[in-house]
Amino acid sequence: MSVRVRIAPSPTGNLHIGTARTALFNYLFARNQGGKFILRIEDTDQERSRPEYTRNILQGLTWLGLDFDEGPYYQSKRLNRYQEVIEQLLHEGKAYYAFSTPEELDELRTRQKALGQATRYDNRDRDLTLQQQAAYRAEGRQPVIRFKIEEPRAVRWVDMVQGETTWQTQDLGGDMVIARADGQPLYNFAVVVDDLDMTITHVIRGDDHVGNTPKQILLYEALGAPIPQFAHLPLIHNAQGKKLSKRDGATSLADYQTLGFIPEGLVNYLAMLSWSPPGQELFSLAEAAKLFSFDRVSKSPARFDWDKLNWLNGQHLRMLSSVDLTQRLSKVWTQVGYALPEDPVLLERIAQLVGDGPNRLDEVPRVSRPLFEPVAFSIEGLQVLLKPEAPQVLPALVEFFSQEPFTETEALKQGLQNLAKSLGLKNGPIMQTLRVVLTGTTKGLELAPLALLLQQKGELLPRLKSALALVAQMRG
Ligand code: GLU
Repeated sequence: MSVRVRIAPSPTGNLHIGTARTALFNYLFARNQGGKFILRIEDTDQERSRPEYTRNILQGLTWLGLDFDEGPYYQSKRLNRYQEVIEQLLHEGKAYYAFSTPEELDELRTRQKALGQATRYDNRDRDLTLQQQAAYRAEGRQPVIRFKIEEPRAVRWVDMVQGETTWQTQDLGGDMVIARADGQPLYNFAVVVDDLDMTITHVIRGDDHVGNTPKQILLYEALGAPIPQFAHLPLIHNAQGKKLSKRDGATSLADYQTLGFIPEGLVNYLAMLSWSPPGQELFSLAEAAKLFSFDRVSKSPARFDWDKLNWLNGQHLRMLSSVDLTQRLSKVWTQVGYALPEDPVLLERIAQLVGDGPNRLDEVPRVSRPLFEPVAFSIEGLQVLLKPEAPQVLPALVEFFSQEPFTETEALKQGLQNLAKSLGLKNGPIMQTLRVVLTGTTKGLELAPLALLLQQKGELLPRLKSALALVAQMRG
């Protein structure tokens, strides 16, 4: 049977980075096996589900490049189908109406706790007669539907990540609620009906769902349905070894987008959270899909490593084609209000120079500022302009750049060295003065190509001249 997997997010928040990683593993397995990747939106919780979260989830998956073959299916559109299965289970005596009020259930739990017992439902309404049911209804009680869990019994499966796994049905908390009084189906039930109807062959999800799996297996059995294989992925931990949480700063995919990660870099990093690819660390989504297998997925939690993510992202930025890089940087520049030069060749050269340094797109505005904004001098920059050689160097630089314009970096570097020699100075003071004049500060982009680009933009001589005027003013 061909592989069919799904990602089934609940639209009760923005796409979480953990869900993105689970989606990625589903996608990699589907593509590796020539199977299908399905998207299902689990929106039965009407109070907490929001259409804007669904949009955010769809956008996030698309941005990562995880194109799905089917869906999105919406649980909210399948309510009749759940009702049909509930009726079937009731009819077969595998489920029943249970009438306890929340207060009665609370009381039960309190009693169990006082006795030092594990809290669970005591299956008290399993064998109510029709008359007893009618009497409860007459009292105005609204029943939930509970599914009978046979006890004692062991439920076993061979997890593709965790290996042989066994749960005792006595530990499942008693007969489980599958639908609320208002008819709303609950997760464990709806997920089984969906996975069954969508002929899901492998359920790949976070290991926070391991405890749900025995309940789901019992439901498959009750429905006489084939049981899919399960793969429970270890959670993502922060650097301190704790579950990644809001306190760690970035938990939703949107946060990573804001931080300037590109999908190529993020996908590469997420794929390596608990999967060790054979032989290489740097790969595209398509390459990962070729290499992926569950044999190399570990069951211990993955530690989130920011340095590694930043590094990988930088590698992917530098692997982009020049045209692609130019497009992505142009988007960033436009967003921060920088005016792009009209000449496409100049724009591409600027992108190449800027793209060489940063690991993330959020660094791009700062790094490229000298190319788009007027110079603002830092303290270190002003200190350079106050050095004794400045009044000699600046007019010499004006003179130097007023001649035939340079077009090659190497020729410019050589020219500047010759200039230093002719002034009886070392290269350092010349280069540093030029850098401060062009950028306002003492560190930044590679100087010679930057000077050429500013010259092309017609901004080199004006900057030199205004620095000259400033120095004259400062020296009184
Ligand atoms: N809606 C569930 C979640 O977001 C899906 C879990 C599953 O894959 O079964 O965690």
